Amino acid sequence: MRHAETVTFGGSGLDRAAELRADPAALAEAAQDPRARCVLLWRGKPLVEGADALRLSRLAADHPVLIDAPGAPLFLGREDGAPVFARDLTEWRPEDFDETQLGGFFDPSEQRHPALAADQRFAELRRVMTRLSPRDAELAATARALFGWHATHGFCARCGAASDLAQGGWQRVCPACGGHHFPRTDPVVIMLITHGNSALLGRSHGWPAGLYSCLAGFVEPGETIEAAVRREVFEESGIGVGPVRYLASQPWPFPASLMIGCHGEALDATIRLDPVELDDARWVSREELTDVFAGTRTDMVPAREGAIAHFLLRNWLADRLD
Ligand SMILES: [Zn+2]
Repeated sequence: MRHAETVTFGGSGLDRAAELRADPAALAEAAQDPRARCVLLWRGKPLVEGADALRLSRLAADHPVLIDAPGAPLFLGREDGAPVFARDLTEWRPEDFDETQLGGFFDPSEQRHPALAADQRFAELRRVMTRLSPRDAELAATARALFGWHATHGFCARCGAASDLAQGGWQRVCPACGGHHFPRTDPVVIMLITHGNSALLGRSHGWPAGLYSCLAGFVEPGETIEAAVRREVFEESGIGVGPVRYLASQPWPFPASLMIGCHGEALDATIRLDPVELDDARWVSREELTDVFAGTRTDMVPAREGAIAHFLLRNWLADRLD
């Protein structure tokens, strides 16, 4: 698909400078570089600034707010030759902090630290992702995924001992057994299934009223992408799928997925719903879906902008899957 990499989080060609990760002296030198900049996260929310033209904030390495970020910096790469690190301010507790606002899909709350500029605030990435440049989105997604992995993988999966961050944050190493552990990325297939002029859309239990999207599911060990597409669609909807082709992928750091967008051709149109997996599934024609995206239907809401499902469906409607 020619437009594949224009998806949100589609990548910006960031120079990840992986050759520096195994060189502690080079990493230390990069950290001391006066051009070095830090992106900052708090509980997975990136620090952003600006209004309509939203930007990911880049702080000088000696910014006073970083006193509240005692953890090791992660090395994300280089921009125009300048090192870029990520720091985590999660231990900071804002005043008047309402814990219940966090964790929602579109957490509307924003947090401002007194040591930062007035327009700098921590914002939920899913809420602001479509307003960031590809570079800012790539940096934010990478940092969020890496911090999330470190926060939940502090102990060696082989022997249970506490492990140490290594390689600028791109590994954890176990001092007890010598095991090396790498940040995980979980592959998920998400598929545009078509039958003639219609696409198969479904909704999970608990989704907002009327929201329909492409079917999706985790790839299992020992399974190809194509087999995962056919299995998930059959399990959830009873629809058999013939030819499957890859379209586009999307890093989805909530917390650690790689969405693999595919197109599959249905062999038949009779839906046999699995009520445990799905709340509903239906065939939606191009004309109906055009109305859904135009907001002129009251019974359906389309997949959210920024999600790869939205991207696949929009491109299908525009006849741009090639
Ligand atoms: Zn170990």
